[in-house]
Amino acid sequence: MRPKEILLNIRPIKPVDSEDIGDDHLASSSETPLRPDAFDIDDEEKIDRIEKHFREIMHILGLDLNDDSLGGTPRRVAKMYVKEVFSGLNPKNRPTARLFENKYNYDQMLVEKDITFYSHCEHHFVPIYGKVHVAYFSSGKVIGLSKINRIVQYFAKRPQVQERLTVQIGKEMQRVLMTEDVGVVCDANHMCVASRGVGDTNSKTGTAYFSGKFNNENIRREFLNYINSK
Ligand SMILES: [Zn+2]
Repeated sequence: MRPKEILLNIRPIKPVDSEDIGDDHLASSSETPLRPDAFDIDDEEKIDRIEKHFREIMHILGLDLNDDSLGGTPRRVAKMYVKEVFSGLNPKNRPTARLFENKYNYDQMLVEKDITFYSHCEHHFVPIYGKVHVAYFSSGKVIGLSKINRIVQYFAKRPQVQERLTVQIGKEMQRVLMTEDVGVVCDANHMCVASRGVGDTNSKTGTAYFSGKFNNENIRREFLNYINSK
């Protein structure tokens, strides 16, 4: 499927009933559901505990943990969860964004497209990966382009649903850039759809978040045309 076709199928983001959540990959809220005590234990203890439980999962599956190839897997997975693929759960890893004056008085749309991300579906804990495209109008301040990338990676490194990821990136851009004029489009592949369940290896899912000037049809079209251009 080409990007153009994906964008025509963007679904509006709506609140949903909790019973709708599950295999349909809908988010219950734009906030990641975290408990208040989420960070009462430190990373090292989390790794130790996850290691123990992952060892148990592998054992129950009947795997021989004495095998040289498998012995290190529980700790490897635990470290990967805490330090890498779910590191965006911890607010201490939130990127700090330095703002710069918009010296050139550039008042047109700024677009950063094709930001690659790797995330995990929160319903199956398998990868979601794809591209995020972000645009904004400066409120007089700009941020380094690498910062936009870091914001995307921070929210991707959580158990996610694509709709929430898209909204979280959009809201963070608004907060950091102090502007309402933000647009975010996300095209993603879901391994839980491709490798299991319906086994559809070709479909992609498109989601979008538009606020401020991006609610204007012409502005939105300019952004989408830019994303679709080579
Ligand atoms: Zn899933």
